[in-house]
Amino acid sequence: MVIKSSYLPFLFLTILSFSIHSEETKLIVFDKKAYLHSATKDPNRVLVNLETIPQIVLEIRYATDNNFSGRKIYTLGKAFARKRVAEALRNAQMDFLKQGYSIQVYDAYRPYRATVTFYELIKDTRYVASPKTGSRHNKGCAIDLTLVDNKTKQVLQMPTEYDSFEKAAWANAPVSDPMIKQNRDKLIAGMSRFGFRVNKTEWWHFDFLDCAGYEVLDIPFEELQDDGVR
Ligand SMILES: [Zn+2]
Repeated sequence: MVIKSSYLPFLFLTILSFSIHSEETKLIVFDKKAYLHSATKDPNRVLVNLETIPQIVLEIRYATDNNFSGRKIYTLGKAFARKRVAEALRNAQMDFLKQGYSIQVYDAYRPYRATVTFYELIKDTRYVASPKTGSRHNKGCAIDLTLVDNKTKQVLQMPTEYDSFEKAAWANAPVSDPMIKQNRDKLIAGMSRFGFRVNKTEWWHFDFLDCAGYEVLDIPFEELQDDGVR
């Protein structure tokens, strides 16, 4: 068959979009057995309990009904991240502690089944991750957090509430109150010093920059609560 050269760009695009699509449908989700096998080979893949970080505060909103879905998604208020991510978070926490603040975690590793639930509720990938790709939370490589003032024990005022879908939640949205702007900037600058990048549309969401090789996991917290391994 002869293909006219003027058709080639079209043909190329068609092939490209087809291969992207088939990659999406091939998402591999690791269960506990596959995770253990992978983490035994590479200890950096172990999920570490973030409660081991000094003075860290956990307020796992998806273990309560105080979240955008209005329902309890997790049965336990736990927070885990891959070893290197947890180490970077510990370093960030040590730095914030020197300044009189503590990290408060809203969400960290998120079992894949929760991403599926969010998608079924919202059905809009502008706001929730597509189950076809999963999210960095599913890889144990993203953390939602804010800062607490260690003297007052109050969270610092930020431009919006956690998980707000408003434009004011964007990381670079204009802020009229200088104190609130300073709080947001302190959080973003402090995290970026330790290898985290803020999400463009969510001031509280931080991706660890080096997530290569981390698989999407679907292991409930109950199976990880002792030490993240067994
Ligand atoms: Zn997030």
